[in-house]
Amino acid sequence: MTLFCRLFSPSTAAKHGLSSGFRNMLYPSAAVTAPAVISRSAATRDLRALLPDELTAVVKAAGQPAYRAEQVFRWLHGQGVESLEAMTNVPAGLRSALEADHQLTPLAQEVVQTAADGTRKLRFRTHDGRAIESVLIPDEDAARNKLTLCISSQVGCAIDCRFCATATLGFGRHLGAGEIVSQVYQATALAGRRPTNLVFMGMGEPLHNFDNVARALALLEHQWGAGFSPRRLTVSTAGLVPGIEKLGALKPAPNLAISLNATTDEVRERIMPINKRWPIAALLDAARRFPLSHGRRVTFEYVLLAGVNDSDADADRLPRLLRGIPAKVNLIPWNPFNGPAFQRPSAERIRTFQERLRLADVAVYIRSPRGDDIDAACGQLAARELVTLSPSPRA
Ligand code: SAH
Repeated sequence: MTLFCRLFSPSTAAKHGLSSGFRNMLYPSAAVTAPAVISRSAATRDLRALLPDELTAVVKAAGQPAYRAEQVFRWLHGQGVESLEAMTNVPAGLRSALEADHQLTPLAQEVVQTAADGTRKLRFRTHDGRAIESVLIPDEDAARNKLTLCISSQVGCAIDCRFCATATLGFGRHLGAGEIVSQVYQATALAGRRPTNLVFMGMGEPLHNFDNVARALALLEHQWGAGFSPRRLTVSTAGLVPGIEKLGALKPAPNLAISLNATTDEVRERIMPINKRWPIAALLDAARRFPLSHGRRVTFEYVLLAGVNDSDADADRLPRLLRGIPAKVNLIPWNPFNGPAFQRPSAERIRTFQERLRLADVAVYIRSPRGDDIDAACGQLAARELVTLSPSPRA
């Protein structure tokens, strides 16, 4: 992807309308108050954000038969078209009726940057001039044919994790459901195939934008469109407990990933201020209650920060915390960016940490940094100021 994502730094954030002041507010009430089902009051004029039954109602109101809704939905979510004119089997009268009340909120693909390991970062510009990023990550083992797409749910982020580059931007705004799914369709076109897995681990806190994320999941899963299995969709959260409960209430629920990142409240609070609102015990209770069908597990992400959360004592506490939760742990050696004075632990410390977990029967993996030469690795999105900007040709 784009390495030039040097676009955003705190100094340029203001220019792009991002408010860092929001970071000092206590946690996102939207995540607490939104209903457990997909909100209909979050009515939207973005045609691509409409669920099939909503689109059917719009089509019927235009005096057209219901099957036209399926045609339109297939264009929007199966083909990922960018304009109504492209819908060649849809009568012009219906297209203009749709255009009268709705639009397709554009997401312009600005830059694609390819890393040495094949990871690609896509930078998009929203209709109101904000930049967001997605990352296409091919499996290291090509034989597995896995292609993971990491997508953004917000412009910037309000959660303020101390080790994360996106946090330095402050909060810009929520992405609409149409903007969330557009990342998937554009990345699909770029890759020439549909990603096998989607992870909400790009910019933003998905559960702070619960309604739009839930809507995006339903759109992505629908058989008229991309038809993703919920088992291939993973929502990652810094730990918004009410949001985890609402996510678990979705039918079907996607996979859950929790950024745990510490084994004591004292340390977690220091690196993730959200822990003051929902401490580790509350978070793990929510994980325990999350519905898991056969064979599924909750993923716990654990960013390893030298001297902060990587001690033997941490490695010994972690399995005790996770007891009783079908879990797997992804250790993420910290990816540096200009700013905080953290360090990645040595390779030996990382291996020792993993080994201690393994001895305690925890399924534990080390996430090797992917695309870090283009700032596409975990927590590096929007890391640096734009220095050079030369769009690479579409692959
Ligand atoms: N807000 C969501 C999703 C985005 S972050 C969440 O917190 O889960 C995706 C993952 O990257 C999280 O697990 C986060 O802890 C991790 N991360 C953030 N900054 C990082 C960095 N600099 N190095 C390594 N991992 C990082």
